[in-house]
Amino acid sequence: MKKIHNFSAGPCILPKEVMQKAAESVVEYNNSGLSIIEMSHRSKDFESIMDRSHAIVRELLNVPENYDVCFLQGGASLQFMMVPENLFPVGGKVGYVNTGVWGTKALKEAQLFGETIEVASSKDKNFSYIPKGYNIPKDIAYLHLTSNNTIYGTQFKSFPETTVPLVCDMSSDIMSKPVDVSKFDLIYAGAQKNIGPAGVVVVISKKGIFGKSGRTIPTMLDYRTHIDNGSMFNTPPCFSIYTSLLTMEWIKNLGGLSEMEKINEAKAKILYDEIDSNPLFTGPAAKEDRSLMNVTFVMKDPSLEPEFAKLAKERNLSGIGGHRSVGGFRASIYNAMPIESVQALVDAMRDFSKKYA
Ligand SMILES: *Cc1c(COP(=O)(O)O)cnc(C)c1O
Repeated sequence: MKKIHNFSAGPCILPKEVMQKAAESVVEYNNSGLSIIEMSHRSKDFESIMDRSHAIVRELLNVPENYDVCFLQGGASLQFMMVPENLFPVGGKVGYVNTGVWGTKALKEAQLFGETIEVASSKDKNFSYIPKGYNIPKDIAYLHLTSNNTIYGTQFKSFPETTVPLVCDMSSDIMSKPVDVSKFDLIYAGAQKNIGPAGVVVVISKKGIFGKSGRTIPTMLDYRTHIDNGSMFNTPPCFSIYTSLLTMEWIKNLGGLSEMEKINEAKAKILYDEIDSNPLFTGPAAKEDRSLMNVTFVMKDPSLEPEFAKLAKERNLSGIGGHRSVGGFRASIYNAMPIESVQALVDAMRDFSKKYA
């Protein structure tokens, strides 16, 4: 197979050994005589996969006893409406910190349910920073945050201290470092950025928060349906869950999230150091808010960008085109991205500057 350095923002790179094992399970799962994609989700084998998947989320993220873990479908995008559907009290208010495209979409869905407050936003500077020092109204039912802004390359380094319940979209940095789950009422994350293939969402929620909104919630959109049925109310995305389990076992074998964080910091440092020292490139995200997962960079002379894109292609550096709302380049360096691939990108930037600077 051709060697590609996959910097795609999502679906994204997964560990080679995980893909190998996942591929084998499609032919036959664990000497069962059945493929993972044809076996009943009510079989002993799959029930064990489900149990281990819930358990390893708890273990890696150190999820407290008074929290539930469940797996849902519909992507993080469905969470944009499930959160208000379940937690936005009729006649109440909720707050959103708007730090990018995903935060904007989450806010837009909440607006369908009642009065929302945009508590803070970084839209004034094209979402290039994380707002700080804003006042959080006391009368909101929750404050919604996006921990890592996949498109703009910014990331919360600490979360607001408040008594207001926090809800967080952690799609693009979950499992990349330890997080204090007890600070949040609800955390959700689409798997396809750091955990597994598309098709599954991890939700971690504090016990006792649901059933208070005064809304009639359709069965499938009610978190309690899925929590009470161990994420098996209906057929779960079996293959995505199994592959996610394999990835989480890979993280555990590396030493867990503290170890993962060290590796991620080392990778990001190589790339940011190059962006800061290379005469041709610059990073649009505020330095103190730079993401460890999605590194955005542009060229000081944008007319050189097609030329650099060409070099990147020649060197099999794939998926580094920036999102159309930022331009330039974006290297997504999620958990499974090897440091050698980051180095290959840095080498290309260096060689390019030797030629053009
Ligand atoms: C990718 C992404 C989403 C959207 O996820 P889908 O699973 O495609 O719905 C939402 N939020 C963040 C932060 C993301 O990175």
